[in-house]
Amino acid sequence: MNLHESEKLAGMLEALGVIETNEQSEADIILINTCTIRKNADNRAIGNLGYIKTIKEKNPKLIVCVFGCMTQAGDSAKELSKKFPFINIIFGTHNLYKFTDYLSSALEDKRIIEIFDNSGDKAKEVIEGLPTKRVTGVNAWVNIMYGCDNYCTYCIVPFVRGKERSREPELIIDEVKKLLVMGYKEITLLGQNVNSYNAIDKEEKKVNFANLLETLAVLPHKFRLRFMTSHPKDLSDEVISVIAKHDNIPEFFHLPVQSGSSRVLELMNRKYTKEHYLATIEKIKKAIPSAGFSSDVMVGFPCETEEDFLDTLDLIEKVKFHNLFMFVFSPRDGTKASEMDGQIEKNVSQDRFNRLEALQKKIALELAKENIGKTYEVLVDEYDEIKSRLRGKTASGKIIWIPLKPENEDKKLQKSDLEKHLGEFIKVKVTSTRNTNLYGEII
Ligand code: SAH
Ligand code: SF4
Repeated sequence: MNLHESEKLAGMLEALGVIETNEQSEADIILINTCTIRKNADNRAIGNLGYIKTIKEKNPKLIVCVFGCMTQAGDSAKELSKKFPFINIIFGTHNLYKFTDYLSSALEDKRIIEIFDNSGDKAKEVIEGLPTKRVTGVNAWVNIMYGCDNYCTYCIVPFVRGKERSREPELIIDEVKKLLVMGYKEITLLGQNVNSYNAIDKEEKKVNFANLLETLAVLPHKFRLRFMTSHPKDLSDEVISVIAKHDNIPEFFHLPVQSGSSRVLELMNRKYTKEHYLATIEKIKKAIPSAGFSSDVMVGFPCETEEDFLDTLDLIEKVKFHNLFMFVFSPRDGTKASEMDGQIEKNVSQDRFNRLEALQKKIALELAKENIGKTYEVLVDEYDEIKSRLRGKTASGKIIWIPLKPENEDKKLQKSDLEKHLGEFIKVKVTSTRNTNLYGEII
């Protein structure tokens, strides 16, 4: 979501004729897009601002802009403006579309601090038609909805991103069609909770996420249709069957579980139990035997006991995720969980994190080995010039490295030899693994 917003902000700058530089010291404008999901994201933004201060001291004309979730959280905008008086523009996610106006004001030496009141009617507004400078190669992100109404007790997102709102289906379909014509090979639909997509089309018909997937999947191009993120409580049978039906929707499910303890899940307000989650996985495996899974897991949530944690390890053992994003609970001001009794000591959380990480590593190694000898269709999405190899992604999100050799042994492969494969779908047989990395050859 943040990456895609950076693409929009970059698109607005590009439309103004602003040119990108990789040297911060050469820049006339520096924009930080912040995240605030965990404390370390805040710390990173603050660290960057400390460094930018030294640049601004040398170049007082530099326009410093701070955008994003962090500015929307509690009193953050005020605190940032006090602590870093050299910032010219502070603006929240709802105000993204005003960036160009803010820049004009900053050029007239005005200071702008504009964040959004998420409680008002305007919080339901969706702004369309912003230019986008896409940077993600063969993949293009497409927002289908914004905000979140779930209020998981640990999560700051509903407070900083506002109410759930879906984009009009026609606008999404139109954007995807254009991207396919432009040559993008992978479309990733974005929303905090894509399964809650809920809109009405021009003919007054209700459109849910399954309907939207179905319409997009049959567009006449060779491409993959991905999405993130799915809340396990909302994944419907209808969505599972649409995925099973269409070859171009990867049989891969990112289903954040957060914890394997039903008691902790209730405290988190996740609205499912360990048993329900495992039953959902089984249901998917039945409908799609080759399905792959990834998840987000958190340790050290308030009141989490050793027994709760063992429940999480048990769930991880049972599902065997291909990929796991692991976090230590980070209390966020304004959320319920930050005020709960039973906050867990840092060393206990860290110990649990280490054990979780070790288990996942063991599982990932086992899963990697199971791929040897198997053939997959991969989409080439990157290359490594130094090691002369292509990077391909399978439908289930596995990365396979494909070393290339020059046809003539005496010649070296050129960048263009690798580059020309970007966006190709090729069949690859996995021949070896190193740690969890897969290596293969084109067949
Ligand atoms: N909308 C997505 C998740 C967005 S946040 C969903 O519901 O799945 C991405 C991940 O960050 C979450 O799944 C959660 O595991 C983690 N996260 C969110 N708040 C956190 C917090 N306060 N401390 C630690 N991890 C957190
Ligand atoms: Fe946060 Fe829960 Fe919404 Fe995901 S579903 S963004 S974790 S509140």
